[in-house]
Amino acid sequence: MANTQEYPRNKEGSNIGKIVVNRDLCIAAISCIAVSEATFQLDDESKVVVIDANTADDETLTAAAESCPTKAILLFDKAGTQVCPK
Ligand code: SF4
Repeated sequence: MANTQEYPRNKEGSNIGKIVVNRDLCIAAISCIAVSEATFQLDDESKVVVIDANTADDETLTAAAESCPTKAILLFDKAGTQVCPK
């Protein structure tokens, strides 16, 4: 079972309902943090955590998830369908 962490998102007007991070895949490349440091940070194990799932807009979140070289960040819409990476 993958070492995943789920973060619900309740941002008004957003199509993204959940951010899922696969900690096993995170290699601390920090490209996601470069795109949205309001959303992503590294913890003391140098694995990504979501510090705020609601601040960034959908475009920024999508760009951050797409920037991850190992596809460690997954985005799901409010119906539970994975929307990123496609
Ligand atoms: S871009 Fe991917 S590998 Fe890099 S810190 Fe973010 S989740 Fe981890």
